[in-house]
Amino acid sequence: MERNASSRALLSKIKDLTASLVKEISEGKSPSVCIHKFRNYCTDPNSNCLCSSDLPKGQQVLTLTRQCHAYRIDVLLRVLVIVQKLLQENRHGSKRDIYYMHPSVFSEQSVVDRAINDICILLQCSRHNLNVVSVGNGLVMGWLQFLEAGRKFDCISCPTTAYTIPVHVEEVKDIVSVAKYILIVEKESVFQRLANDKFCNANRCIVITGRGYPDIPTRRFLRLLVEKLCLPVYCLVDCDPYGFDILTTYRFGSMQMAYDAKILRVPEVQWLGAFPSDFEKYNLPQQCLLPLTAEDKRRTETMLLRCYLQKEVPEWRLELELMLQKGVKFEIEAFSVHTLSFLSEQYIPSKIPKVEVLPGNNFKS
Ligand SMILES: [Zn+2]
Repeated sequence: MERNASSRALLSKIKDLTASLVKEISEGKSPSVCIHKFRNYCTDPNSNCLCSSDLPKGQQVLTLTRQCHAYRIDVLLRVLVIVQKLLQENRHGSKRDIYYMHPSVFSEQSVVDRAINDICILLQCSRHNLNVVSVGNGLVMGWLQFLEAGRKFDCISCPTTAYTIPVHVEEVKDIVSVAKYILIVEKESVFQRLANDKFCNANRCIVITGRGYPDIPTRRFLRLLVEKLCLPVYCLVDCDPYGFDILTTYRFGSMQMAYDAKILRVPEVQWLGAFPSDFEKYNLPQQCLLPLTAEDKRRTETMLLRCYLQKEVPEWRLELELMLQKGVKFEIEAFSVHTLSFLSEQYIPSKIPKVEVLPGNNFKS
């Protein structure tokens, strides 16, 4: 019912938007589209910026007088027609489906992605409200049960079995869990290692992976679990710039989706590892270290400037600086150099605080 109500409201907003464009044209004016700009960080750590607020940071006015703007409006309107049809027919489509409806006009996927983001900003809604969904990439296992559109996900009956994270997160309900914490792992290979080691049998937890950069359903599902279950969340990533960027995507959201950060970020995420300082602490041999490439160094230097690091997690920033200073990186799998199950039997348990919920302090890592 709720979805229909929101679809109706969006359809009427689409009608208003196109009506105002038609009015401008019929009055002989050049039509314009005003799109608010959002960002979740800037590159001035010491400024008095408002990046962490969810307010727009300026706006962009698209007009037909500039050719690149005219193209952007053309794409926007074409995607808007497709979205309108999805909403009218109460059907769902993927970003990829939309691309293939006019591949010669859109030329590449990112053009469609930007149009979808523009539409969300214009209509002040989230992507799933447009009935545009992504293919689910995330996996979950552990001490958890829930329903999605009437279908039961009973992970508890076999906590070492991987389930695909549902795409329609708004349909997830009746979440039941006896877990003590949620563990996010960056990579599927690490998730499988934990499944093989029956990590969730020995540890009352829920394990999630977004298999690299997490998609929207994975991040919304994680956020739903944190909101409903009030559990601490730990994140385990490779000790390299990509791992760190994935960690920040879970906690702060991504720049492209900054307009929707309020429903996508999970500020409770704590960084469990692997820290650059873990290399010596856990006696990893030199052969496990890889030198940072020129591209890695450039990425790291750029990330160090992000204002949210300085403002919210200065201790993360110090570890990132250390990575750059040492000029080396390593993968989580490097811990297998000791024994195959070192990760699940020694490393992770040694990192999880004895008291998982520290009152008033559960945002600190
Ligand atoms: Zn800022």
